[in-house]
Formats: sequence, structure tokens, C-alpha cells
Amino acid sequence: MKIIKGNNVIFSFKPKMEPVQKVNPKEVFKVITNDCFYGQISSEEQTLDTLDYSRVNPATGPIFVEGADPGDLLKVKILKIDIHSQGIGLTMGGQGILGNKATKTVTKILPIENGHCRFNDIYLPIKPMIGVIGVAPSQEEGEFITATPWKHGGNMDTTDICEGSTLYFPVVQEGALLALGDLHGVMGDGEVCFTGCEIGGEVILQVDVIKGKTTTWPLLETIDSTMIVGSGKTLEEAAEAATDQAVELLKKGLGLPWEEAYILASISMDLKISQVVNPNKTIRAAIPKTILPTELLIQSI
Ligand code: CA
Ligand code: ZN
Repeated sequence: MKIIKGNNVIFSFKPKMEPVQKVNPKEVFKVITNDCFYGQISSEEQTLDTLDYSRVNPATGPIFVEGADPGDLLKVKILKIDIHSQGIGLTMGGQGILGNKATKTVTKILPIENGHCRFNDIYLPIKPMIGVIGVAPSQEEGEFITATPWKHGGNMDTTDICEGSTLYFPVVQEGALLALGDLHGVMGDGEVCFTGCEIGGEVILQVDVIKGKTTTWPLLETIDSTMIVGSGKTLEEAAEAATDQAVELLKKGLGLPWEEAYILASISMDLKISQVVNPNKTIRAAIPKTILPTELLIQSI
């Protein structure tokens, strides 16, 4: 199995990037990832004065997928996420949804013990997830720092991007150029203070290419839903973006008039907050598979 080492990182998703590894459709490979601080924080006493902010949110890659051409979908199945033994949570001045109240920097080391994340004497079952994952954006969209979520993916900080889930990205550059990082041992929807349990680790993935299909926003297949992961300057813009594509998919997938698809979305689809703290906010719209199976949804786009 190919292993992409954690020293091969990018700090922004660019239209043109030099790949560090090539993989084939259906290939299974391992990606070593760093925590979002690139290992710069290791104790609760450390001040952040020396933190190099140009080296945060490293994403390992880019990985060139053979046969992935503009106009295709890149399918990325998350087979396994293993996390290290210690995570970090922190609050700092101006950050998070209560940034106006957050003035002090406080770092919490969060040990991972027997499948749990320990916060003081509280044990939370881990639910490892990927914070940053994406592909090269289009020339017109330009460059995005890894902290920003958008149509190419990026810092979506979505709890359902976890083991067993499958992502579908629009390929706009040859080889797609996949990169990922910023694992969380556990995180609440919203990520209100601006960190999850930030942690390094390794991810086993399987990629595939679906020819001649595309999507506006990344799609995320879970056990019971297909989610449209939309982002925008505000939560409302993100909700509108995700809903807009979801209604289009229901319309096409089920052959409904737009108005009926809109009503069906309203009675069946959950909008869920992914994160409220990044440069763009993220909302996912979950279409139940019982209404429209993922395969049919993708066939119709
Ligand atoms: Ca993140
Ligand atoms: Zn993170």
C-alpha cells in the first residue's frame, strides 16, 4: 500500500499544484496527517506568541488520481481513521462564535485513552473525522487557504466526514489533486470555540473516478443520507447554497417539477450545521437515501 508521508503538505488549495504521489482508480492507500497546528503546540503552558500562523491547517498531498479529468467526479471512500494518543483543544482572543468574549488563550491537552477523549475527568467516546479535505479549485475560483471551505472542499469541519463515509468532489483539474489533514478525535456540530479535539493521525482511503458527472458542492454519503456540503459567508448563505443543489438533485433524480422537489425537501431533508467558525460557514443538507439512493442521485447529475 502506498503511504503519503506527513511532511508532504500544502497550506492552500491552488488550481495548479505539484503532486507528491500518483494513485489509480480503486487503489487503497494511506495518508499520514498532521494536527491543524502542524505540531507546534505540545503543552498547556506554551504561549502562542511563537506560533507560525502561515503553517496552520496543513493538508497532506496533493495526490494525483489517474484518469480523473475535468468534468468527472472524484469518489473518496474513508476506510479507516487512526488518531494519535493526544489531542488539543484551545480558545484564543477573538476566535470562535463568542470571539468578542474570548480574550484569553487557554490550551487543553486532550489525552486519548481506551477509545475516549479525556477532558478533565470527563470521558467522551472518540468519533474521528477529517476537518480538511479537498481537491484543486478551478482557475476562475483561484487559490483558497486550507482554512477556508468552498466548492473544492477544504476546511468543511463536518462530523460526518468520518470512517465509512464517502465524499464526491467535482474534478476541475487533471488528476483532481486530493489533499487532507486536520483530523479531530471528536467534535460537536458547529465547532463553536474554533477547535475540535485537534490531532494527528493516519487515514486509509480508496479513490475512484466517475466519468462525466459533476457537482456544485462536495457530496457526502453516510449510512442513511446523501449530504450536500454547502459553504457561504454566513450560515444563511451556506443553507441556501446546500438547499439549492439538494432541490435540483431531488428534481432530477426523481423527475419532479422544481416546486414539488422544493416541498419534498422541506418535509424530508435536514439542514445540519457543520461549522460556524471558519472563513466561510458550512451547512450540510441531508437527503434520506430512502427517498433517493445515492447511486440514483449521482446517475441523474
Ligand atoms: Ca478545521
Ligand atoms: Zn481542526
